[in-house]
Amino acid sequence: MSGELSGLQIFKYLPAAKKQECANCKKCGCPTCMAFSLKLAKNQIEIEKCPYAPEELRSIILDAVKVKQHEYTIGSKNIVKTGGETVLFRHDKTFVNKTVFAISLNSGDSDFDEKLRRVGNFQIERIGDVFKVDAVYLKDTGNFIQAAKKVDAEGFVLILESDDAESLEKLKEVNPVIITKDPEAFKENLIVISSDNPDNLERLSSQRIKDGYKKIILNPKMKNISETVEMLTYIRRMAIQEKFEPFTFPVMVKIPQSDNIAKTTAEAALLICRYANIIVFEDFDEAMLASLCTLRQNIYTNPQKPLQVESKVYEINEPDKNSPVVLTTNFALTYFAVANELESLPFGSYLVVTPSDGMSVLTAWSADKFTAEIVAKTVKKYNLEEKVNKKSIIIPGLLSHMKEELENALEGWEIVVGTIEACEIPEFIQSLGYGKNS
Ligand code: SF4
Repeated sequence: MSGELSGLQIFKYLPAAKKQECANCKKCGCPTCMAFSLKLAKNQIEIEKCPYAPEELRSIILDAVKVKQHEYTIGSKNIVKTGGETVLFRHDKTFVNKTVFAISLNSGDSDFDEKLRRVGNFQIERIGDVFKVDAVYLKDTGNFIQAAKKVDAEGFVLILESDDAESLEKLKEVNPVIITKDPEAFKENLIVISSDNPDNLERLSSQRIKDGYKKIILNPKMKNISETVEMLTYIRRMAIQEKFEPFTFPVMVKIPQSDNIAKTTAEAALLICRYANIIVFEDFDEAMLASLCTLRQNIYTNPQKPLQVESKVYEINEPDKNSPVVLTTNFALTYFAVANELESLPFGSYLVVTPSDGMSVLTAWSADKFTAEIVAKTVKKYNLEEKVNKKSIIIPGLLSHMKEELENALEGWEIVVGTIEACEIPEFIQSLGYGKNS
């Protein structure tokens, strides 16, 4: 679409809608004004083709195609995207590219390899997504090229800080973010501009745009976290609401070293929510990153698309004919809560996941997405009766009222009402006698 205008919205400005004499004159190459407006909405024709398009429409179209925040790709082997945001609040639509987490390392440190290995070893999995550190912020303190190549080989994207243009030139191929005093030679690359003053940052950004720099990252260096959040909010507002060009770039913030890791975690959490595109950590702490990855995942999922897993029978811990059968919906959080508990059992189990559009148990039931018919269909589809000796299904405790209905729909199956809380599942299953002979 042409910015945010639909064909009908555009049509209202054209001669045919205003019943002018020149309506449908075909000068634009389209048979009618309506055909022209539909094409314009899809960016398939330029507004200049219509000599009668009013000035008001021209300025609306020009404004609509302006970028709110530029989106960049960083890296060569593994890549990350940053920027590209179009809303101020996640619930307005969705945030697009999750905050990039970068760990700061000094290239000349004697224990550089060890530090890099530790950063590389960090990995957590949550709701089926695997998270690692995205980037390394490499400061030139010696052995720069060698260190950068090691970081690149480890699959991290690079943010390079050096005033050695020759070294940076040699590292252009890894598609890094570049921080250097004199960026003249890197006009085509992604460069960072920094200032501790909002007006100065705006001035610098405008100047770089004028000088022909193609890709910019803004780095406000404010005195404290409250000033930083204030500045980031101002930049994002100016970008999204005003499309103010000097601030339409992703923003990077560095969190200084601290011996209070809880404070660093809290500050980073604030910056994820408001509105850092890249956060550089001077500290590397696995527990801090694990909690921040979890927060980031929550903020950067699409609120219009529920997190869901595939509807099928999951075989957990190599189940056999004596294993229990447990039932739940395909809402990802519900699935992982139940699956994690089943994994903790010393024997296998079958987890039947019904198709329920990613809704949790009670929501699915109230929306008619968890009915006796759907459950019966799922159980039959996966031939569960051939997989177990005891035809018994444990249903979520919240659906106890469906017991009779399910027994009628699943002839020959015993319906057992399970627990309300997932954490009670292992004890409950063992109390039913499962696992005694395994
Ligand atoms: Fe309509 Fe303009 Fe095309 Fe003529 S040139 S048909 S007025 S859109």
